[in-house]
Amino acid sequence: MSTPHTRTSPPASGLRRFTAPRMSRPEVCELCGAPIDDGNHRHMVDTENRALACACTPCAMLFEQSGAGGGRFRTVPDRYLTDPDHGLDQGVWELLQIPVSVAFFFRNASLDRLVALYPSPAGATESELDPSTWQSALGNSRLAELLEPDVEALLLRRVEDRTECYLVPVDICYELVGRMRMLWQGFDGGAEARADLTAFFDHIAQRAVTPEEARRR
Ligand SMILES: [Zn+2]
Ligand SMILES: [Zn+2]
Repeated sequence: MSTPHTRTSPPASGLRRFTAPRMSRPEVCELCGAPIDDGNHRHMVDTENRALACACTPCAMLFEQSGAGGGRFRTVPDRYLTDPDHGLDQGVWELLQIPVSVAFFFRNASLDRLVALYPSPAGATESELDPSTWQSALGNSRLAELLEPDVEALLLRRVEDRTECYLVPVDICYELVGRMRMLWQGFDGGAEARADLTAFFDHIAQRAVTPEEARRR
């Protein structure tokens, strides 16, 4: 009898932990059908259907070059930006009327809407922001200026009396919401969800660079 072959998979850590369990789609590029790495591949936003599509690297690169012109598929960038001087304080949460400690914000170009999304006891809650609220809450942030519509999001988290703000790929925000949907309890999320969030934000903090550092690369 032969020993069964054991496949060793990469350690479930960092963002992979969050992307892996949610993606129950086939392990192929949704544009060309090429096989892709289930735990590590790029995504595109299908702006017509407001959905994420899994993509192989060549397709992602192709649409990265041509997508800026407003095509249906836009490649989600892989940059993570931080701005230590973002100047956002407690007031931002009141202005935005977000009852929980984590939320993300993005601009939907085709509907010309500003959208806030956050986990809650009822699942992911989405609300539309009017432009003046967006402007007074986030308008002074450099990261808000750099935000690419549809494909990137501002991710805010309240930690005690501080607010953290990152510019991140929009796909990880959907993964976060999916993850939180499974774990979130009550308004503070409960211990498991909070531990999960901490790991998630630790990973983002490690990857994120300032806009100046990003330009120098
Ligand atoms: Zn492809
Ligand atoms: Zn995928």
